[in-house]
Amino acid sequence: MPLNLHDTLSRETREVFPMDGETVRFYCCGPTVYGPAHIGNFRTFVMQDVFRRVLETSGQKTFHARNLTDVDDKTIRQSQEEGVLLEEFTTRWTERFHDDCRALNLLDPHVEPSAVGHIPEQIALIERLVQGGKAYQAEGSVYFKVDAFEAYGRLSRLADREITTSATTRENSDEYDRESAADFALWKSRRPEDGDNYWDSPWGEGRPGWHIECSAICMKHLGESFDLHSGGVDLVFPHHENEIAQVEAVTCKTFARHWFHIAHLMVEGLKMSKSLGNLHTLEDLAEKGYKAQEARYVLLSGSYRQPLNFTFDSMNAARKALSKLGDFAAKFDFHPSSQDGLETEFGPFYPVQEALLSDLNTPEALGRCFRLVRELSEGLERGEYEGRDEALEEVRRGFQATCDALGLVVAPAGDDNEEVPAEIRELAQRRWDAKQEKDWESADRLRDELLAQGWEVKDGKDGFELARAIA
Ligand code: AMP
Ligand code: ZN
Repeated sequence: MPLNLHDTLSRETREVFPMDGETVRFYCCGPTVYGPAHIGNFRTFVMQDVFRRVLETSGQKTFHARNLTDVDDKTIRQSQEEGVLLEEFTTRWTERFHDDCRALNLLDPHVEPSAVGHIPEQIALIERLVQGGKAYQAEGSVYFKVDAFEAYGRLSRLADREITTSATTRENSDEYDRESAADFALWKSRRPEDGDNYWDSPWGEGRPGWHIECSAICMKHLGESFDLHSGGVDLVFPHHENEIAQVEAVTCKTFARHWFHIAHLMVEGLKMSKSLGNLHTLEDLAEKGYKAQEARYVLLSGSYRQPLNFTFDSMNAARKALSKLGDFAAKFDFHPSSQDGLETEFGPFYPVQEALLSDLNTPEALGRCFRLVRELSEGLERGEYEGRDEALEEVRRGFQATCDALGLVVAPAGDDNEEVPAEIRELAQRRWDAKQEKDWESADRLRDELLAQGWEVKDGKDGFELARAIA
């Protein structure tokens, strides 16, 4: 069964397939490396990761390109405020981004090209646009002539949004105005506030605009035409609209055949963003006692087509859900695979794969996963797997495929690698004994004592487990 996915351009749910018959080649707009990415950004990166994982667990080869925006108004301004070289500044935030990606179990893209690493390619594309009469020079900068590209505005349906197009307005900032379709900067002439961050070009010293970076990188690493392009919904206009214009105006070919946009992560009805100051980073969450896997689970819990509200209640629910999966893993003696490549045999977990192939319906996939986990566990308790090693192995393999498709790392309960200090274990044992003797008062007091020391106990039928308490 193929993956069917909503396409922003056609407004239809369409099959994702490789145009070369072999590899789905896709591009994701990457982070601007000027500070830590927040979990709103990671909603987008996690869903793009799930997109790739769902293809690969269906046996489809992929080629994933994701860029790093390491030169723009924000990176330059911020590095100067700190008094460090742009490269040193962006390298630091790139490393931090990679650490966060690892913690969230995101697959590494096959290539991660940076804007600074592709200045000649950007200049070459601007030259083609100028030569073709699609761009013009003004005061040392070069602008794309929006009126010269007839299809401008198709992706974002500008005509329906009463967004004005004007040949007389020009936009030079990277932090653009979303309500007007102005001619936009391809090359920005050198300004004193740019410091040493400039390059030579046929139009004088300066630097590329933000939009041209992705177009030039896509053309170099994926070709003039490729399978799918993706980002958060805020990128539809003008960034992706401009990317299409810059490429199609010179190639006269369809740039990306499919457009995949992820709705925003919200906090109390507002988009989680740096400018609103309502963001959470993985570091903030860790300080509150939460793990990156729990954040990943929350980010999967809503459909990518709808905004998702972030709450700490949902983080607590994610912890419980993951612990249930850990219990299941322990019962079935499941241990995460250390093999390269993702598992493709879903076996009894096929309904999970089916939900994912249907427009990446992650909430439905999780719902089905828990139903199966319950049913299979009941079957195990009834003895249905006695003497049926092959059937047991199918369950384990299917669970591995499910974890691989969703990018969840589930270790069997009790396998937690954090050492529990001896005195904590002793307190917990005393509490357990008190409970067995129905001395509820002592049991409650000891539970509170453990909590005060940062540990939570969870009782099972025959014993207890300890886990780090949430602050
Ligand atoms: P940036 O680092 O700002 O270039 O953003 C990186 C990615 O995160 C882009 O694809 C954005 O569209 C996406 N993004 C930004 N804010 C949010 C949010 N609150 N929820 C989901 N995605 C977001
Ligand atoms: Zn981009």
